[in-house]
Amino acid sequence: MSFEAIGLIPELVEAVKQQGYDKPSPIQLKAIPEVLKGKDLMGAAQTGTGKTAGFTLPILQLLAKGEKARSNCARALILAPTRELAAQVGKSVETYGKHLKLSSMVVFGGVKINPQMMRLRNGVDILVATPGRLLDLHQNNAVKFDQLEILVLDEADRMLDMGFIHDIKRVLRVLPAKRQNLMFSATFSDSIRALAKTIVNDPVEISVSPPNAAAKSVKQWLHPVDKKRKASLLIELIQENKWHQILVFVRTKHGANKLVKTLNGARIKALAIHGNKSQGARTKALAEFKANKIQVLVATDIAARGIDIHQLPQVVNFDLPNVAEDYVHRIGRTGRAGSEGQAVSLVSADEIKQLQDIEQLIQKHITREYIGGFEPNHEVPQSKTIKPLKAKKPKKPKKPKQTKQQVANDSANSKQPNKNKEKNRTIKKGKSVKSKRKPGSRQSTENNIWSGSSKTKTNKG
Ligand code: AMP
Repeated sequence: MSFEAIGLIPELVEAVKQQGYDKPSPIQLKAIPEVLKGKDLMGAAQTGTGKTAGFTLPILQLLAKGEKARSNCARALILAPTRELAAQVGKSVETYGKHLKLSSMVVFGGVKINPQMMRLRNGVDILVATPGRLLDLHQNNAVKFDQLEILVLDEADRMLDMGFIHDIKRVLRVLPAKRQNLMFSATFSDSIRALAKTIVNDPVEISVSPPNAAAKSVKQWLHPVDKKRKASLLIELIQENKWHQILVFVRTKHGANKLVKTLNGARIKALAIHGNKSQGARTKALAEFKANKIQVLVATDIAARGIDIHQLPQVVNFDLPNVAEDYVHRIGRTGRAGSEGQAVSLVSADEIKQLQDIEQLIQKHITREYIGGFEPNHEVPQSKTIKPLKAKKPKKPKKPKQTKQQVANDSANSKQPNKNKEKNRTIKKGKSVKSKRKPGSRQSTENNIWSGSSKTKTNKG
């Protein structure tokens, strides 16, 4: 189905064509018509699925009609967890909205607030923000939400991981009750669902791309190596394979700085991007990396969120992440939008637990390749057999609550009231334990996100 067929106006169709997109991605196919209808939405989708265009395009179309933003007002608010993601989304808004007369702006912390306050005086149709800076601006009366029509919460799972829950709640308190809400998250855990209850209203639920599916267009393998020899092996791999644009993931900020020094020492141009770097330094590093002025960008997981470099050929996991889902996010940086990519991990014996968690999540063993001269003295133990993921059981509808009178009647009719009560309680307990899902168990299907498989359901509850 084409972009025209899902109801986009010519100005937007033109903009996406100029980006080289010939058809909507599965999430766009599902999300765009629903958002255009004014529905609330809960989308289970990670970066790499085209979700940004999935919400940006219909928002632009909705806002193209209606009154312009008044002074200090925003008509749509997009909340993102990191500066990089906010900047990325802001760029998408500009790109897709270039044939429309709408204004947009990105605000995040770590840079001066005054210029942001000045610009907000004219009002803005679409405001992309990180939560902390948005609250600062609101406290300074620089932004008002009287005219707010649409709220987007992007990467809600990451927002919770980063401890933004209180900021989000504070933002919600100052928004008008009547608005359209869109919420995106890689996974819909219990805590995300609890948050969703306070945000979305009778939402359409869309799910694409189980997190392990991003791995499909990415060739993955690992090199077993001793910890202290990882940097030398990385240098060897870069030089031998003539890799030219490599995103290297490390677990810590300190590790990132140290690796950059070592690489620079080997005359490989590298820069680090992590939370302790100023916004200016991060933006510069990313721009130089994108322009091929530096060969290696060394990043921590949080800093790398939202990085979108078209067809990044090579991702290296210098350390394995502690959270298995981060591995999928990491390798999702390569092989994007259907293109082929490569992800290699340097794994030392002490990382066997992380490796097993990842292999369990992606439901396959990662091929091990030994490099001559780098065979480890401490062998990486064999991984455990992979257990199949359990399919999610549909929830049984809850029994309606009994009134006090009904309870009294029931126990009066029962010959062994106390015994029965105890039995019921035990069964309930057993049920709740069983129904607890393991993280990732939802992701048992193996759909390719660009192949068109997705599902939509209307949440009646
Ligand atoms: P996102 O999931 O929003 O981070 O988007 C991932 C990448 O897919 C970005 O580089 C987009 O430019 C690209 N993209 C988004 N929509 C499409 C589409 N319909 N066809 C091809 N590429 C797309």
